[in-house]
Amino acid sequence: MSALDRLKKFKQTQESKKATFKKTAKIPDGRSVLRILPGGEKDRGLFFQPFANHFIKDNKGQLKAVYVCSEETFDKPCEICEMINDGKREIRSRLGKDAAEHDPTFKMLDEARAKGRVLVNAINVTAGETEPQIYEFPKSLFEKDLMDVLEEMALEGDDFEENMGIDVVVKRSGSGRDTRYTLSLAKKQSETSPAMLEKMEDLYGYAQQESEAKKAKAITALASSTHGKLPAPAEKATESIASDLASASVDDAIDVEYEVKAAAGSDVSPSPTTTSASSDEDDLNDLLAELG
Ligand SMILES: [Zn+2]
Repeated sequence: MSALDRLKKFKQTQESKKATFKKTAKIPDGRSVLRILPGGEKDRGLFFQPFANHFIKDNKGQLKAVYVCSEETFDKPCEICEMINDGKREIRSRLGKDAAEHDPTFKMLDEARAKGRVLVNAINVTAGETEPQIYEFPKSLFEKDLMDVLEEMALEGDDFEENMGIDVVVKRSGSGRDTRYTLSLAKKQSETSPAMLEKMEDLYGYAQQESEAKKAKAITALASSTHGKLPAPAEKATESIASDLASASVDDAIDVEYEVKAAAGSDVSPSPTTTSASSDEDDLNDLLAELG
């Protein structure tokens, strides 16, 4: 193969990588009416999919790796969460709770925590969209506010599935940590066309982003951003699961691991803020495609 052929092939591969990466849509600033579509066959009857990424930066704030959080996405132990929590705990015990908050490495670790999102197929009615996109909803907005609206709808004898979707008014204001969202049922409901249903994205398929190579990259990035001071990744998890495996099934071992985590402290649970969600991953997401 000539050098030119090699170069062409390389470019083709790069292009196809870009093509397969689908960007999720975010709730836009201001007021928008979004139509949330019901679950397709591919989504195993569910109309939503939990999802979260870890965004790992170096100590200059440059994004170094992005990796799906197994805990937020698949409800199973996540090695990256383990590393982050261990690291934060280590810095806290070394510097004390208050000083730790101002430590740059501690801050980096804190920012690398996965922020829970829920993915849905939706259409931005206000923007005149005709094809569904994967929209990211902050977890609390979805689990609390949307749930309230669906319940209200059910009380009036209306059904989300039967109506093949629901129009909601979503308002977004502020930025960064002060981003606020509200959600309510739209007075005027639009209709879901068969074409829209046909073009729905496979949410479950989208979430399947685990890869050993990408995980290794994330672990390396995390280790180098903390100057290699952290304990080896997930050593504890592997040990405790392995020892439990002797007498129990894998599922049992994972349950045990969860109990240990739950007992270990609050690091595991998501941020307690109810309506805010950091939006700096809006910028970060733009870099996602490049990182592949
Ligand atoms: Zn995680």
